[in-house]
Amino acid sequence: MSARGAPRPKQPMPGAAQRLDERLRAELESLHAQSLYRQRRIVEGPQGAEITVNGQRLLNFSSNDYLGLAAHPALATAARRALDEYGTGSGAAHLVTGHTRAHHALEAELAEFVQRPQALLFSSGYLANLGIAGALAGRGDRVLEDRLNHASLLDAGLLCGARFSRYAHADAKALAARLQQTGKRKLAMTDGVFSMDGDLAPLPDMARVSAAAGAMLVVDDAHGFGVLGEHGRGTLEHFRLGLEEVPVLMATLGKALGSFGAFVAGSEALIETLIQKARTYIYTTAPPAAWAAATRAALKLLREESWRRGKLHVLIARLRAGAAQLDLPILESRTAIQPLMIGDAARALAVSKDLEARGILAVAIRPPTVPAGRARLRLTLTAAHSEAQVDQLLDALARVMKTVSD
Ligand SMILES: *Cc1c(COP(=O)(O)O)cnc(C)c1O
Repeated sequence: MSARGAPRPKQPMPGAAQRLDERLRAELESLHAQSLYRQRRIVEGPQGAEITVNGQRLLNFSSNDYLGLAAHPALATAARRALDEYGTGSGAAHLVTGHTRAHHALEAELAEFVQRPQALLFSSGYLANLGIAGALAGRGDRVLEDRLNHASLLDAGLLCGARFSRYAHADAKALAARLQQTGKRKLAMTDGVFSMDGDLAPLPDMARVSAAAGAMLVVDDAHGFGVLGEHGRGTLEHFRLGLEEVPVLMATLGKALGSFGAFVAGSEALIETLIQKARTYIYTTAPPAAWAAATRAALKLLREESWRRGKLHVLIARLRAGAAQLDLPILESRTAIQPLMIGDAARALAVSKDLEARGILAVAIRPPTVPAGRARLRLTLTAAHSEAQVDQLLDALARVMKTVSD
């Protein structure tokens, strides 16, 4: 009686999990068939010019560790000291109990370095971009973005509730035309250095047309910070643009700085607004204090060891000169990102595989990360590479590109 009266536990429809798997497998198969399936590599040990991947030692031309700091002992030492002082977990979000003196000091140092009144840490660049757009734009507003912006900026524009549109790549005139459209507030968002192409946004022109239209310009300098400008302050320093021209600067700490996370820098009112309103700042656990300590050590190296940036630019010039001699299809770029254009995704995979057999890691970048028909090897250089290693890459490319084009 009582057993009959008890509510039965709800069972899923028989075979529901199996049906889901069948559908997912069909989708995965289709990715395979289009050469768009992605696989992770298992890395052992530290980042560097050479890394061990799936048990094989490879020359690494695929990381964003542009200054060779990711495995620098000074960062690890700073992190270890902070672990002793603070422990591992931050315990809560920044606005609860997670914001330590180490985080606070890093914010002050970052603000000083980029010559802006204040800076605010985010747990990642992806979250920073979502936070900026969500705090500064919404219904009735307009967000305009470069067609080739990083996925996190595009998602930020799509998710913030504003009218969202994309303009032609690196085209300030196209932006100006879009800025004629109505909107309460207008936000123009762009990569400083485009992440898959390595070219620069025309920021001086963009700043001019944004100011004329009363729009806010937001620059994501993930790949310029630490690399461009006399002091490594990034794309804005390269173009000599300040707070007036670009009120919102975002940069990441997981690339040239060899650490993790991101920051936004701007006026006190901007930073206070983000603290009050950026949901991806408010509703997430603060990164560990040890991470903040390691990043402070990285920033110190960035300031004191300008030879890293100098060496990187020497290697970039060497690769470009060699590639020109070999007539390799390398895109126009003055940054650490030197894309070798292949086109077809299957072909890009084949070239990448051939290089791997020759001991070189150059990951193929395929749609949807890049437009269809624009698959490429995104070659990246770092200060940890030697000239001999760049020559080794050129040598391997000369052989592999010849066999692939036959
Ligand atoms: C890597 C990258 C991001 C994301 O930063 P994470 O800290 O890795 O989340 C954002 N914007 C651009 C342009 C990037 O290249």
